[in-house]
Amino acid sequence: MSDQPAPDLMAICDICMQPVGDGDGHVWADQEDANTAFYNADDGHSPLDFLGLTTRADLVAWRTTHTICGLSDYAYKIEVERIRTWSAFLHWSAHLADKKWNAATDWQLFILRALEPKLGAVSGLRPVRPQDLDFDGIGA
Ligand SMILES: [Zn+2]
Repeated sequence: MSDQPAPDLMAICDICMQPVGDGDGHVWADQEDANTAFYNADDGHSPLDFLGLTTRADLVAWRTTHTICGLSDYAYKIEVERIRTWSAFLHWSAHLADKKWNAATDWQLFILRALEPKLGAVSGLRPVRPQDLDFDGIGA
């Protein structure tokens, strides 16, 4: 326990809007819905409007919830205590990039909402220190 890195991220439940403590919840997506969406998808997804959008209705949502607030029987789930740092988040991103069904989810927006407090998200993974996140933009 004592050599755990200081957390960069806090998990806020999408349902009750309260913090999710270690062992009490997950970041998750319904893998069955994502598989269905992936194999039924049209060829072209419209590009993400990064600063304009916080949700995409055509994508299966990544959620953050307490276990008692709701969890799909078909959830691909990440325990909140396993995604409390930016490096853990990046490792999960690399891991999920290998999974075809994740292309049918809003994982990209899930990341951007964590990185961009300006998007106004109030739940999900939220930065503990948003002042560290200044970024000039890709290719700017
Ligand atoms: Zn909750």
